[in-house]
Amino acid sequence: MKYRVENPEHLLDINALDFSEISTLPEGGIRLGATSTNADTAYHEQIEKNYPLLSKAILSGASTQLRNMATDGGNLMQRTRCYYFYDTATPCNKREPGSGCSAINGFNRIHAILGTSDTCIATHPSDMCVALAALDATVQVTGENGSRSIPFLEFHRLPGENPERDTNLEPGELITAIDLPEKGFSEHFEYLKVRDRPSYAFASVSVAAALEMDGENIKDIRVALGGVAHKPWRLPEVEKDFFGKKPTRNNFEELAEKLIAGAKGYGDNDFKIDLAKKSIVRALLTALDNKK
Ligand code: SF4
Repeated sequence: MKYRVENPEHLLDINALDFSEISTLPEGGIRLGATSTNADTAYHEQIEKNYPLLSKAILSGASTQLRNMATDGGNLMQRTRCYYFYDTATPCNKREPGSGCSAINGFNRIHAILGTSDTCIATHPSDMCVALAALDATVQVTGENGSRSIPFLEFHRLPGENPERDTNLEPGELITAIDLPEKGFSEHFEYLKVRDRPSYAFASVSVAAALEMDGENIKDIRVALGGVAHKPWRLPEVEKDFFGKKPTRNNFEELAEKLIAGAKGYGDNDFKIDLAKKSIVRALLTALDNKK
């Protein structure tokens, strides 16, 4: 709004709605109220203990001051940091559908390498969402047609022909909560954020990695990526191929190749392809040793 990218006629302050509670779900798991703050979530006793991947991802984002104010629902609704999106003097299909994309043939160091389209190559900026994608969270929404649950991987969209739409929320729908399933991968986890400076910077590439071990074999493995696509990037069908395998560097490298298959650079961001593969392997090797 400060840059006049959004020019709403009305603004509704929803902070007075009673959605700030963090509570235990009857079937196990945790419900994060949509207006609970990022700071209250990251430092919540049960989140720190059972979902340390989420705590670490949240604390790697923004600054202390911002995390004290920013809400969990708001985090999901962040828009891209594409410089052209904020520069109203340049064409941008996300800001003004049909006007063109200035990034595809412009300066695109921070842009996407996966799931792009001819209309938009923007990335999603959140760290928290990368962890929520890995954890298989569910977004609870409500609107004039009632309430519904959206699996996290279906909440954000790839740009396709409609880059102006970041999410699958319908007009008038409001996020009320984010549910975390019981399994939090507190034994083996890592959130690796690679960025241009050590704090208060968006990810060039980030990796939320989680492992569940059965003796010396992998029982469950999750890898979600940030900074590489219009939404947190995760391919559960690829992960399944590694269930039952040994957690070796070779297997992690094979997984990384499969997750990044089809990646396309646009010039300035070509470096992200190799960076993403190396970051996946490093995050998984760290997760193997990372015990809460
Ligand atoms: Fe706009 Fe997307 Fe192109 Fe950036 S990448 S200029 S947000 S259309």
